[in-house]
Amino acid sequence: MMRKERKSVLRYFGRVTRDLYAIMPWEVSGVILLELLEAAAGFLQVSAAAGFFDAAGRWLEGGADRNLVFRRAGLFVVAMGLPMLCRLLVEALQNLPMFLKHHRLIHRLHGRVASVPLIRLEEPEFHNEVWRAKMSVYNFGLVNYFFGFIDLLPLLVRFLGTVWVIAAFHVSFIPLALLSVLPSILVRFRYQRERYSMKRAQTPLERRKDYLWQVLTGRSLAKELRTMGTEKYIREKWALARDQVMDETLAFERKNGNRVLRGDLFKFFGVGASIGLSIWFAHRGLISLGQFAACIAAFGSLQSMAESVMNQLAWQKGRADFAGDYYDFFDNEAEEEEGENYPGLQDRIEARDVSFCYPGSGKEALSGVSFAIRKGERVVIVGENGSGKTTLSKVMAGIYRPENGLVLYDGKDAFSYDKDSFYKSFSVIQQNFVKYQFTVRENIGISRPAQIHNDERLLKSARDAGIEGTVRRAGGLDAQLGREFDGVELSGGEWQKLAIARGLNKDADVIILDEPTSALDPLVEYDILVKFLDMTRGKTSVIISHRIGLGRFADRIIVMKDGRVAQTGTHDELLAMGGEYGRMWHEQAKWYQ
Ligand code: ADP
Repeated sequence: MMRKERKSVLRYFGRVTRDLYAIMPWEVSGVILLELLEAAAGFLQVSAAAGFFDAAGRWLEGGADRNLVFRRAGLFVVAMGLPMLCRLLVEALQNLPMFLKHHRLIHRLHGRVASVPLIRLEEPEFHNEVWRAKMSVYNFGLVNYFFGFIDLLPLLVRFLGTVWVIAAFHVSFIPLALLSVLPSILVRFRYQRERYSMKRAQTPLERRKDYLWQVLTGRSLAKELRTMGTEKYIREKWALARDQVMDETLAFERKNGNRVLRGDLFKFFGVGASIGLSIWFAHRGLISLGQFAACIAAFGSLQSMAESVMNQLAWQKGRADFAGDYYDFFDNEAEEEEGENYPGLQDRIEARDVSFCYPGSGKEALSGVSFAIRKGERVVIVGENGSGKTTLSKVMAGIYRPENGLVLYDGKDAFSYDKDSFYKSFSVIQQNFVKYQFTVRENIGISRPAQIHNDERLLKSARDAGIEGTVRRAGGLDAQLGREFDGVELSGGEWQKLAIARGLNKDADVIILDEPTSALDPLVEYDILVKFLDMTRGKTSVIISHRIGLGRFADRIIVMKDGRVAQTGTHDELLAMGGEYGRMWHEQAKWYQ
């Protein structure tokens, strides 16, 4: 989708300069000073050249002393050499420190992505925006935008100097030179505009390419690719995406190349006209024959200076669009609202007529869900796959905002609390937990960094989650885990228990456990969950599971079906009631005999 409004080329200059200055104040100030010096040297060059030639001419005619000639010659050499020196220094600053350090802008992007409401991550357009914002840093869009303007300074000075020189011959050369480069400039502005649109439209394709590359080269999927023989298929799919990007780009560049050629042809008419004009001026005696050649040469240089300046501006227009990808992300993405400090659960959590629908899905994942969980209650939510258990846990934990209805903590909307303080008293152990390729200590302790060196605490969490033996075998708390960085690899079940240890280590008031045990043997899984319920006695805990037998150890059971609460009660109450719970219980009863 194209952005409709036209944006000024200077729109982001202040912000880019401020942001780059915050990251590298010395380099940014240095570059600005050097470029100003280079621009000033441009002025100096003109007068130093005039002074030197004047003194040299007079000295040859015997009218000036030799020392003056040497002094002016010295000044002339300095004026010629200074811009070169400035350029060298600017390039040294640009090439190494600035281009490397500007990547810190990505850090801010990470921070911003972490502050958007989590539901945005369910929308593909959000990922397109993040991709574009990231690319505007990685492709040097922002830093080049800054340099583009700074580099323009000396260019402008040289351009004005050339205008001044040629005006001395005749002012009519100036509009002629500008007109002759106009078509080629217009072509370049159009090129920048269309190139940006093309790149923008290619974002989903680039993301797909990136995803396929990760599938192809990632360690976790390699085994499936080989054994299932899907590697070739995915490689071809990647190549197809790559070719599509390449073909579109090549076709665009070819079309543009033709336009540039036509635009450039126009410049020859300008040169022809300037020669004709010079002949006419010479013929009328307005310029001497000696000035005739200088006049044509000056016209050529004015033409190319005008083109350089305008070309640079056209590039800046394109860079401004790419810089916009970064800043628009910050401007347009809503942040989680700030709220009041969360004092911890005092009395109860309540869902009141809650409905929720995932973005882009026409079907409600939750509809009209109501229940209450008292502080200290241990609740098991059961239901078949797709019945809405996970969605319910996310809405309950304030991760997703309900479309209708409210989730109340002690009578207050969960979204009215400050998120940081809210999550301090929460531990959510998710189905798709992370296998951090870190040490055991970090894997468990990351949920409470202030206590990460408290070995006793970490080992207790490991013991409670049933992985004390695994930790010992791996080589202790400081053993590196995962093959990514040459550590000890754990089994799927061990990783899951580690995630549970991490959740327990947080020592939260409210613990939600969303089936992170599916890779475990059913009996081990059952055993862990029962232990978990036992361990969380006194805490408010919610286990989401398809293991119906767990209900016997919970204070209460909520049965989900098709996004609704089908039944709630204790195991005995529900069995007596019959219905969905009774049906599932009898189906699974053989496991619990
Ligand atoms: P359960 O945990 O009981 O298996 P879920 O809460 O995961 O069920 O899913 C409930 C419904 O929401 C299902 O129909 C599922 O297809 C849908 N759903 C789950 N996650 C998403 C998502 N990210 N985007 C769209 N629909 C989803």
